[in-house]
Amino acid sequence: MRIVFLGTGGTYPSKLRNVTSIAVQLPGEVVMFDCGEGTQRQLMHSTVSFMKIRKIFISHLHADHFLGLPGLIQSMSLNGREEDLHIYGPKGTTGNVESMLALGYFKSGFTVVSTDIGSGKELDFGGYMIKAVQAEHSIPSLAFSLEEKPRPGRFDLDKAKALGIPEGPLFRRLQGGRKVSVGGKRITPSMVLGRPRAGRKIVYSGDTKPSERVIRLARKADVLIHDCTLDSSHGGIARDFGHSTAAEAAWVAKKAKVGTLFLVHVSPRYEDVGILEREARSVFKNSQVAKDLSKYTVRYPD
Ligand SMILES: [Zn+2]
Ligand SMILES: [Zn+2]
Repeated sequence: MRIVFLGTGGTYPSKLRNVTSIAVQLPGEVVMFDCGEGTQRQLMHSTVSFMKIRKIFISHLHADHFLGLPGLIQSMSLNGREEDLHIYGPKGTTGNVESMLALGYFKSGFTVVSTDIGSGKELDFGGYMIKAVQAEHSIPSLAFSLEEKPRPGRFDLDKAKALGIPEGPLFRRLQGGRKVSVGGKRITPSMVLGRPRAGRKIVYSGDTKPSERVIRLARKADVLIHDCTLDSSHGGIARDFGHSTAAEAAWVAKKAKVGTLFLVHVSPRYEDVGILEREARSVFKNSQVAKDLSKYTVRYPD
């Protein structure tokens, strides 16, 4: 599981940062969170294949989070895409996507399936779940978690040998969660596997003030990607516009006991993000301001 920060700026693009978009590379597919203007150009500069994007989750309908969609959809069509593209977002997303598909002289060669989702929605995609909760912004805005299903426990070789199971295909069957039979004895996976191990979890806050719902959603996440629009000297503006300061984002990370915090949605006013990183680290040590096109591999904790 690899996170690619395509755009890490907020509000409008700057020379240093494009507006928000985050790609998550999973086996066989890419999941995208937000798609600000210019995201497809950022994709060209990255190692993410834009044709592998299956699902796009839009946090809210401010332009810096969705304006990249029409161009990206048109390019996918021009490149011969046939596979459906699924777009999820808060109320109003479906209407917006319909308008985008009707822009100019364009007919998509593939189907775009758009779905409005509300707070508390859980989507099961087989190997992983996506959960959405209402964040605290100036308009309806969602935070998302992507959480892998638990993995089987560790295979206990000594126990398997003691039970007389021969090494080879029977080991794999048990590891895959199936029962086997050895010398007339039925052996279940629980007899040779340890306790199921947690999968990896990442959470993206979208635009938000510090939020208890986001804290609950982010509990023990490996990675939290959080709104960090301003430093604390502009705390009043952050509150008025439904954003977080660096210290507030770090406080959320600390309360949620996450592994690593990445700060995004940086205001175009910052060329040097030192102040944001210092403020965040004084509250939560493992904090960093994400850079455009930087990557982070999320490893299993065990
Ligand atoms: Zn924004
Ligand atoms: Zn916004």
